[in-house]
Parts: sequence; structure tokens; C-alpha cells
Amino acid sequence: MSDKKLLNRRQFLQRAALLGAATVGAGTILAGCEPADPQVDDQADPAEGPEGAAPDDFSCDDQEALAGLSDDEITRRENHEYTDQTETPDQTCDNCLHWEEPTAGENCGGCAVLPGPFHPDGWCNLWAPAA
Ligand code: SF4
Repeated sequence: MSDKKLLNRRQFLQRAALLGAATVGAGTILAGCEPADPQVDDQADPAEGPEGAAPDDFSCDDQEALAGLSDDEITRRENHEYTDQTETPDQTCDNCLHWEEPTAGENCGGCAVLPGPFHPDGWCNLWAPAA
């Protein structure tokens, strides 16, 4: 009788050890199946996204894009009514006299008369036709 109890106890301990190992293994496998965190952004600056991104996929006028500008520089942009999306289709930053092409790997370009990044489809009231 006591041998049978000892045997049962031994079996119980062996099964408990197996169950513990199986639980750890399943947890490890499931952890590998978790989707990527949607909050993690691979690009620190949306203005520096992959070159050629769709025009609606990036901003050159949001808080991150303007992070390096002073309040006075931001006010200058606002005073000239800068917007990332022109309301006059034939007047855009990328066909403006003052437009500066984006550097490699960036979506936003520059401007010879205003500070900061500018959207190719943007506009401000200093727009002038390219020569
Ligand atoms: S002057 Fe205005 S419209 Fe022309 S590139 Fe600069 S921000 Fe864009």
C-alpha cells in the first residue's frame, strides 16, 4: 500500500515537472507570435520617411516636423499662411521659384525664403512661378 502511494507521488511529481516545462515552452512560442507594437514608429521624424512616400502619408507641418524651429520661425510660416496641401492646384511648393528639392531619403523639401521643411504639395502666399 505504501509503495503504491510512493509510486503515485513519484508519478505526480514527474507529471508536474512535465506540465511546468510544457507551460514554459508554450509561453515562449506564443510570445513569438505577438504582433508588432503599432505604437512603435521606426521613423523618428515623419518628415524623413522613405523617399517617394504618398503625399498624404507624411506631414511637413506637424509638431515633429517643426521640432527644430524657433517660435519666431513657426510664426513666419503661419504669417505666410503655409499649408501642407495647396488649395490652388497649379500653385504648389514643388513648382515654386523658391522650392528646394528634398535631400536623399526625405520627403519634405526646403524653401529659399521661409524656414523649415515644406511639403511638395504645400503652398504659402509667397508662391512665385519657377523661372
Ligand atoms: S515660398 Fe511658399 S510656396 Fe514657395 S516653396 Fe516656399 S513655402 Fe512653398
